[in-house]
Amino acid sequence: MADKPTTMFGKDKNPSNIIPTKYTLDSKIKFRCHPGVSCFTACCGNIDIILTPFDILRLRKLLNLSSDEFLLRFTTPVFVEKTDMPGVKIHLDENGRCPFVTDEGCTIYEERPSACRYYPIGMANFHQAGDDGCDAEKFFFVVKEEHCKGHEEDKSWTIREWRADQGVDLCDDMNNEWMQLVMRRKSYGFQANLSEAGQKMFFMVSTNLEKFKSFIFDSSFLDTYEVDDETLAKIKNDDIALMFFGFKYLAGSLFGAKTLKIKDEKITAQVAKMKTSQGDREQEAEKVYKELIADRDALTKQLHKAK
Ligand code: SF4
Ligand code: SF4
Repeated sequence: MADKPTTMFGKDKNPSNIIPTKYTLDSKIKFRCHPGVSCFTACCGNIDIILTPFDILRLRKLLNLSSDEFLLRFTTPVFVEKTDMPGVKIHLDENGRCPFVTDEGCTIYEERPSACRYYPIGMANFHQAGDDGCDAEKFFFVVKEEHCKGHEEDKSWTIREWRADQGVDLCDDMNNEWMQLVMRRKSYGFQANLSEAGQKMFFMVSTNLEKFKSFIFDSSFLDTYEVDDETLAKIKNDDIALMFFGFKYLAGSLFGAKTLKIKDEKITAQVAKMKTSQGDREQEAEKVYKELIADRDALTKQLHKAK
């Protein structure tokens, strides 16, 4: 069976710019990006920077904006990783440049998105088609674009050191569960489309944790799902806990994972409802059947009379 590559991030998806070598965390690379390079900020335009839920959380906190305002001002909708899962990417200005770039560099550098931190090192998972990626072989690859002069700099370090410097490990920890959802969906292909409700739910959890929080606390959510008090207190006050809770909820509602327990009384009520509606349908079918028999009998009588 063919292996399935599942690239995670990286601004450049053009295979011809990828050096055909598998790198490990201990592989050495030569690369440095700093304000002195002749290409400084050349890579901050004409790109798709997909934002993960963690990226959005960080950025809107830095900019002190509500989710709605942040989404409206700085993003544009996109389907993530060529799936039918909707997310957002940074909305470029009229010149195709990132709204956060200036001649001096990135104005949100400390909180820059995951994709900007990964560049030019991508991470790939190879796993057998059909499996869930548990035993995926992970490796790294280097993207080398002609305009990027960082590869000519005389700074050599391991991928591990470079990732630590860029704060990529934290991004991995925060993004992995979300990426797994996307990759799982991707591995299904388009044999079955995600329902509109499923897409809306994915979009809400991925882009607007404020809305998700109000969905939990101001709807019938807590009448349906069993959530212990400790978890409730956490997700009320801690956005990271809320985000991870959202991933669990998505895994359950989109892929049937047993991540959240539905309340027993809800299940009993649902079964009763199904039984009632089944009973109603049976009664209706019986009524129609009896009417057909009566029609047939009447017709037979008429035929006999006519003879
Ligand atoms: S967020 Fe910063 S690093 Fe990323 S593209 Fe924009 S300006 Fe460049
Ligand atoms: S060295 Fe590469 S990553 Fe750094 S600014 Fe230039 S193009 Fe961008």
